[in-house]
Amino acid sequence: MDAYALYLHIPFCRQRCSYCDFNTYTTLSDLQAAYVAALAAEIRQVGASAVGGRPAVHTIFFGGGTPSLLTPAQLATILSAAHAAFAVDPAAEITLEANPGTVDVAYLTAIRALGVNRLSFGVQSALPGELALLGRAHDFAAAVAAVEAARAAGFDNLNLDLIYGLPGQSVADWQRTLDAVLPLNVEHISLYCLTIEPGTPMQRWLHNGTILAPDADTAADQYEAAGRALAAAGFQHYEISNWARPGRECRHNLVYWRNEPYLGLGAGAHGSAGGYRYHVVRQPRAYVKRIRNYELGIRNEAGAFPPAPLPPRSPALNAFPLSPAVADYHRVGRDEAMSDTAITQLRLLDEGLSLGAFAGRFGQSFDEVYGDTVSQLQTWELLQRRGDRLLLTEKGRFLSNQVFYRFV
Ligand code: SF4
Repeated sequence: MDAYALYLHIPFCRQRCSYCDFNTYTTLSDLQAAYVAALAAEIRQVGASAVGGRPAVHTIFFGGGTPSLLTPAQLATILSAAHAAFAVDPAAEITLEANPGTVDVAYLTAIRALGVNRLSFGVQSALPGELALLGRAHDFAAAVAAVEAARAAGFDNLNLDLIYGLPGQSVADWQRTLDAVLPLNVEHISLYCLTIEPGTPMQRWLHNGTILAPDADTAADQYEAAGRALAAAGFQHYEISNWARPGRECRHNLVYWRNEPYLGLGAGAHGSAGGYRYHVVRQPRAYVKRIRNYELGIRNEAGAFPPAPLPPRSPALNAFPLSPAVADYHRVGRDEAMSDTAITQLRLLDEGLSLGAFAGRFGQSFDEVYGDTVSQLQTWELLQRRGDRLLLTEKGRFLSNQVFYRFV
């Protein structure tokens, strides 16, 4: 049986950042206790749908939203459900996303004792003006305090998220953030280039002229500057947006990038397992209702999954991972599986895509399927071959979206 990465979505935040279009809510704190109970129930239901014993889980990732808004008791409820439903590897990487300003030493000590062994802090910038533009609820001093509290609580595996490519942000501004963050001496850093998403305050500001559109050339220079600074500080650039000290790559995210199976539970979570891709009902109140109704034996809601009665011999509706909160799913066809393999594995800069493994899995060489595309991308110096591996070039790293859409 496959071993799975387990993603658990926590859709609560104190305030919404100006660029954020994630599935998170600032007005549902009254739902938090019911949501935790529903998530624990969904974990039990999915675990129970496996045939042949508890499925193995080797990473757990609490993502959000702001998972650090959960109390230690709520995290304990969820984790004990996970340990009961799945065979969780004793050495599993268990990550919690946290925002500076939401944690202190006592809180972090309590969740470390529950088995959480990796923290990912949303720091984003060291500059007050940029944090205000982003609508962040903390200053940089809170980020420094969070890292110090994490160390005091015994965490030796920390990630910091940063954002570049902001409107009006110069390379020198970005360098000031890097210079402030690197002395914190963490194990992992993720850098995201700002994208202005539809429906966000930032998009409105762009449309009404309050802010200027970010400059793509400046963002490219910032990405290069970060690469130089992080390499000089001893980080390895192992994925397009991620740098780690040796051996500290994010094991959970490696599962996505290697196109291996993962389970996504909680409102709006996505999963890929058993030959299916699925996603869970997005709205937290609807999610809680689905799970509760299932527990109460109510199976005939419009759109409920699975419908009642279960149709005989319907593998899609009776196979693991069976969650009553799934909103939609589809069987992954061969073309989609090949495309997913190319797009996810090329994100890994040293590992890339194994041509031998691809041919072994699909019974067709990568060149037979994508030969013309690969030749074109090599001509443009965006892809390169190294032995059995196909890799992005230096130039291809920043232009990766130009590469990936050609494999869709
Ligand atoms: S803290 Fe994260 S999830 Fe919450 S609003 Fe800000 S960007 Fe979105």
